Order: sequence, then structure tokens, then C-alpha cells
Amino acid sequence: MTKTKVAVAGIGVLFLALVLLVLLNPRAEFMLGGGLVNLGIRLQDRLSSYDFVHDESITPEQIWEELERQNELSGGVRGLFPRTPRHPVVAVLACMDGRIDVSELVGDTRHYYYVVRTAGSVLSPAEQDMLELAVLNGVKVIVMTTHTDCAAEAAAVDPELRKKFPALISLMDERALRVEEFMARPTIRDAIAEGNLLIKHARIDTTTDRLVVEVRHHDAH
Ligand SMILES: [Zn+2]
Repeated sequence: MTKTKVAVAGIGVLFLALVLLVLLNPRAEFMLGGGLVNLGIRLQDRLSSYDFVHDESITPEQIWEELERQNELSGGVRGLFPRTPRHPVVAVLACMDGRIDVSELVGDTRHYYYVVRTAGSVLSPAEQDMLELAVLNGVKVIVMTTHTDCAAEAAAVDPELRKKFPALISLMDERALRVEEFMARPTIRDAIAEGNLLIKHARIDTTTDRLVVEVRHHDAH
């Protein structure tokens, strides 16, 4: 056998071993899927010339047309590869900041989560209702997040912006209080006491997606 043939055979054996590993190991298959999604994101991420923000002459209508065109493409792909419906057991409260992607955050790209998003992760009574409904629908873990470099947090300490956005700012000022209010709801309190619900608090490092879990006093109960 020539050296080339040996090399080709070696690559073939490696490839087969990789396929077998993935087929036999659900965790490896899961990680490979996440890796491929990241590869796709990497391919799109470097296309700065395709980035609306760098073209100041672009009109809102043109941006909408492009969005529609992209949706037509992705809708077509979804039509070809339908997803298995899954029942979420996790709900995530996150800021509306565009840099945060809940699927990426936890590496499960199957949209396996209920997601409530508000500026600054504020929790008005309406969002509390949404999370309580999620618990009634089978959610066992709620992850309440905030994140670094948050525009809503910056607004909350800016005198000018405080005046401009009073409704958001008052919710920001009461953020911790609203969480306590949610935890005291009878359904939530009972679910926690019975061991059917776990509530975690975490701060997301916006640059790395890493979750830094915070301990609150009620976590001890
Ligand atoms: Zn934010």
C-alpha cells in the first residue's frame, strides 16, 4: 500500500469510528448537534458586510423586506426538516438583549424551554402569571437571569433615562421585590415546598454566555 492509501484508509477508519461513537452515544450526538449549530453561527457571524447596522442608507422597509426573505428561506428549511414537539420542563426569564440566546446559553438548541423576555428581566404581575402558567403546564425548574452590560440596568442609574422611562425604571427598582412576590404566590410556594419546583437565580456573562449562579436567602428553604 502506498502512503496515500494508508492515509485515506486511516481517515476512513477514523470517520467510521466517529459515526459509531455518535450513533452509540446520545451525549456525543447531542454535542455534535450543538457543534454544528455553532458552526452555522460562526459562518454567519463573520459576514459583517451583510450587517444592516453598517449600512446607514438602508431604510426600515428594506430591512423588513430582507427579514421576510430570510424567513421565507428558514420557513422552507423547517418545512423540509420538521421538529419533534417537546414539552418544556424549564422556564427561563431573560433580558430582551439581542446578544442573549437561551438555546445557546444551555447548549440545547431544540427550543426546549419556555422563555419570558423583558428589558432588564423585570417581572410585572403579567410575567408572574406567565411563569405560574408554565409551572401549571409542567415546568420543574425556573431560571431567573440578569446579565452583564445590561442597558436597562444602565438606564436605572441614569437620571435622564429614569425620567424618560418611568414604568420600566419603577419595575427595575422593584426587581428583587417582584421576585419575592412571585415566590410567595400560593402555587409557586407549594410547588417549591413539595419539591416539585426549583427556582435558580443566575447572572449571565454576556460576552461568554456563562451562567454565574447566585444564592438568594430563600434558596435555603
Ligand atoms: Zn439587559
